[in-house]
Amino acid sequence: MARSVAALGRPAFTRSFQTVPVNGFPGAVGKTPLIYLERLSKETGAKIYGKAEFQNPGGSVKDRAAMGVIENAERLGLLRPGGTVVEGTAGNTGIGLAHVCRAKGYKCVIFMPNTQSQEKIDLLRMLGAEVYPVPAVAYENPANYNHQARDFAKQTENAIWTDQFDNVANAEAHYRSTGPEIWEQTGGKVDGFVCATGTGGTLAGVGRALKEKSDGKTQVWLADPPGSVLHSYISSGGKLTERSGSSITEGIGQGRITSNLGTFIKSIDGSLHIADEKSISMLYNLLDTEGLYLGASSALNVVAAVEQAQKLGPGSTIVTILCDGAYRYQSRIFSKEWLRSKGLEDAIPEHLRRYAVL
Ligand code: PMP
Repeated sequence: MARSVAALGRPAFTRSFQTVPVNGFPGAVGKTPLIYLERLSKETGAKIYGKAEFQNPGGSVKDRAAMGVIENAERLGLLRPGGTVVEGTAGNTGIGLAHVCRAKGYKCVIFMPNTQSQEKIDLLRMLGAEVYPVPAVAYENPANYNHQARDFAKQTENAIWTDQFDNVANAEAHYRSTGPEIWEQTGGKVDGFVCATGTGGTLAGVGRALKEKSDGKTQVWLADPPGSVLHSYISSGGKLTERSGSSITEGIGQGRITSNLGTFIKSIDGSLHIADEKSISMLYNLLDTEGLYLGASSALNVVAAVEQAQKLGPGSTIVTILCDGAYRYQSRIFSKEWLRSKGLEDAIPEHLRRYAVL
């Protein structure tokens, strides 16, 4: 006879939650769960955890940066009631900003490269943001989405450009919240932390907090997708090369040392290059074995966490970031045709291809 769960004397499912109500969208940002990734931990002998940033109220890790840059601008008196927030973004920062702007009564204007998914553009517009998709050109080109955002803010009364790449209020938000949360959730035992970078805010903010708390013992690594230059910068001892190649992982990859990454790049202990084939395969694997429906940057981060676990060895505790959910990209990453067009269909193990239903 099957035993009831109640007979075991404890609930089958427990989860801690915040015991006091929080104030609106801003109050709901952060304090995300740390998820133990059971299968990968068993396979490596390490303890591998993913910080569930997709559970932020705007759906991504960038809600923290959005709050950080807006509240910093308010504190400095740069953003006044009725003001306009302007940003250049691949999407998630813009979505975070658009939520915070609705909650605080600001106007939101977003410039983004026209290579980003339609879901993100639609969502931004549904959140009331004014969206300008612009050609995806290099940072050096004056038509780059960031420069267009900066110029638009300059020409607009009572507007600020939040400048997520070089405004260190972004990394500061992770230094003050994400990093200490991870420290507390692991009971002060983090042997390795690894993640990919867009602005570098998450890596530098969390990395700095963990290094300080562990007296430098936590190994902080960077993971790079194709088309990003930071892995080669770190592994060559500081040579910056031209960007070449591209990746399916939206929101990550970088061609320069942003102010958010800044001098922290010298404290980074290792770096990894992760091919799209590995990321997409992990994305389908995490869905199949852990029930996690994640975006490609999260999958890349988990591949990197497994590689770090293999290097640091059994018994080590490794943490990475689960940046956002797949909802924002599903028309691409769950489309057979799209995967084929990227040459990635064969990278997905045959028994998992059934998830590509679009
Ligand atoms: N993953 C996704 C999906 C993102 O949108 C971003 C931010 N663009 C990142 C990872 C990287 O975060 P950060 O900007 O803090 O480096």
